[in-house]
Amino acid sequence: MPELPEVEVTCQGLRPHLLGRTIRTVRSSGKPLRQPIPEDLLRRCLCGNTILTIERRAKYVLIRLKDSAVLVIHLGMTGKLGIFSVNAEPVRHDHLVLTLDNEMELRFNDARRFGCVAIWPADEVEELEQTFLARQGIEPFSEDFCGVGLLQLAKSCSLPIKSFLMDTRRVSGIGNIYANEILFAAGIHPLCPANTLSREQWQEVATCAVRILKKAIAAGGSTISDFLGASGQPGYFQLQLAVYGKKGEACPRCGEEITKEAIGGRATFFCGKCQKSTQR
Ligand SMILES: [Zn+2]
Repeated sequence: MPELPEVEVTCQGLRPHLLGRTIRTVRSSGKPLRQPIPEDLLRRCLCGNTILTIERRAKYVLIRLKDSAVLVIHLGMTGKLGIFSVNAEPVRHDHLVLTLDNEMELRFNDARRFGCVAIWPADEVEELEQTFLARQGIEPFSEDFCGVGLLQLAKSCSLPIKSFLMDTRRVSGIGNIYANEILFAAGIHPLCPANTLSREQWQEVATCAVRILKKAIAAGGSTISDFLGASGQPGYFQLQLAVYGKKGEACPRCGEEITKEAIGGRATFFCGKCQKSTQR
């Protein structure tokens, strides 16, 4: 499933192809994604409108238009955005196609259809900011994502820290793979209740999270040319994973066996020796 780095790289990959372009036509497959694609509203809001900015918020791609309408896309499990020539053969699972003023198209392909496409018309954008975007958790690249900010955010939360990091209402964009890797790097046991960590431990979590996410974005950066043409966009970035998926293998730090356990229903990998529990 795409996580923050994949969505960030998607935005970076799309910008050179989309900024300043005017949308000519909108077509959809007619098949519903997580919700039906609002094709008529998209057509009304997008046709003749020009793309001003493309940014990521949480795991959403926000495409802002000249009249201040905002197109919001979530990639779901298998969603991909790519730029193609209007002459390129359509492929299976293309669910939304925006034709641009340069004979190119933005295509949203989503085999499993867990993605989402929504539009906020210009006169409803305030609602987007105040309700939808305000509900998203703290951004790992924001100022508040630090020892003090996270300590404050977690003070009444007794969930395991791993579930806390993956809760999108609290923290944006950190999924299962990165949560595992961040906690290993920070030396913190994934079952530690979030409200038992010290400010110093939260600072370490923040530092490790930013370092790991930036590394993943940099790894994805080399694949940006793939946004153009039939190869579409890449899936996961080939990160060097330390613990994720490594049950029974040696911990890269101490040599102890990596343990696997389900936490909050998600596969969790950790080293029982390097990752300290605050309860012990
Ligand atoms: Zn270890």
